[in-house]
Amino acid sequence: MAFESLSEKLQNAFRNLRGKGRLSEDDVKLALKEIRIALLEADVNYRVVKDFTRAVQERAVGTDILNGLNPAQQVVKLVDEELTRMMGSETREIAYRPGQEITVIMMIGLQGAGKTTTAAKLAGKMKQKGKRPLLVACDIYRPAAIDQLRINAEKQQVAFFSMGDKNRPSDIARAAYEHARKNNNNVLILDTAGRLHIDEDMMAELEEIKSGVDVAQTILVVDAMTGQDAVNVAQTFDQKVGVDGVILTKLDGDSRGGAALSIRAVTGKPILYVGMGEKLSDLEQFYPDRMASRILGMGDVLSLIEKAEQEIDAEEAAKLTDKVKKAEFDYNDYLTSLSQMRKMGGISSILGMLPGLGMGVSKSQMSQIEGAVDEKKLARTEAIIHSMTPQERSDPKIMNIHRKHRIARGAGLDIAEVNRFVKQFEQTRKMMKKMPGLMGGKGRRRGGF
Ligand code: GDP
Repeated sequence: MAFESLSEKLQNAFRNLRGKGRLSEDDVKLALKEIRIALLEADVNYRVVKDFTRAVQERAVGTDILNGLNPAQQVVKLVDEELTRMMGSETREIAYRPGQEITVIMMIGLQGAGKTTTAAKLAGKMKQKGKRPLLVACDIYRPAAIDQLRINAEKQQVAFFSMGDKNRPSDIARAAYEHARKNNNNVLILDTAGRLHIDEDMMAELEEIKSGVDVAQTILVVDAMTGQDAVNVAQTFDQKVGVDGVILTKLDGDSRGGAALSIRAVTGKPILYVGMGEKLSDLEQFYPDRMASRILGMGDVLSLIEKAEQEIDAEEAAKLTDKVKKAEFDYNDYLTSLSQMRKMGGISSILGMLPGLGMGVSKSQMSQIEGAVDEKKLARTEAIIHSMTPQERSDPKIMNIHRKHRIARGAGLDIAEVNRFVKQFEQTRKMMKKMPGLMGGKGRRRGGF
């Protein structure tokens, strides 16, 4: 899959921030430098990278730190938002003509980009949506292209139209339009001829087709593997023929993914779909936000962050973190975190939101902590803490076997259960002390890092 190496490098940049609770402007600059290099290495357009890092930097320094988020999480959030914006923010659909009108889609692109395959993939998608597409073979230079389209149309069980290779593509398109009208097809997908490089003949031919039929959307198919070239190709096609949307193919390959990140920003043309394989079902609608999360490789963290924004009682969380930091976390705090957990739905959520905790916690640490406070045991745990004296709650060190017996009796539980809980509490405390990045989280701070 594309973006693997980019993902890895971005995550490294974030990892370096995670150890720090409070970030200086230099920390941010250093992280942004790493992010910039990662994007350039992924073949993202130079100007796009420059705009991107400037936007993140400005926002990072200019905004409030959200309650409940540590600065490192905040940087991840900004990078996610800016990546999404770079790719066009909203998902764009192919625009169909209203009512009974026939929508003509012209597929253009260089030879080998994946036009013919993508035309058939798209026809399949349209059919699923209840459209009645007609696949039209306008590539008369490559006889194999006509056969390839026919075979794919059969596989997709959609209608196919060809006049062989002896007619002009513009005449074929016009005849196909008439054929569609008679046969009740409401979408025409024209598969046009590509060339190895952009050339005038190809552009003239596309112009001619456009002047013959009323093309609703011209969709450019570009190969993601060609990186920067894909962006140049898109610009030229747009200047010469006009492009309404882009489909990026071969994103399943080991392309560095830069094209996906730059095309929209450079050309202003939305990416509609991405090709994720050779099979006819391997076409996915393009969601900029999901792609950004995929690139960041941290969808879960991002949803936790969202949750943090919406639900967390940040002042409480900050207080808890402060206590953890000073190794003062006691049974009272445990009770508070339990009630927050109830609100949030799980220890993992609350840990994700305690500034400085979430992102430094490994899976095994997390499951240990989860085990310590299994939700089903919450009520009993609360009963145990409620049976403690105020002194025991605020000073866990004084706990001893006599006290535990008394607590067990008070809570109506077995001594073994109290023993287990106290042990787990101590373990959790120890673990918290060891966790990286516990210096931050002072609630609301101005001026960013
Ligand atoms: P055209 O010359 O633009 O019509 O390109 P084709 O449709 O003939 O595609 C060229 C090659 O790219 C074929 O081998 C396709 O199977 C392959 N291809 C097209 N789209 C994808 C994709 O999304 N992923 C992969 N892995 N291969 C693709």
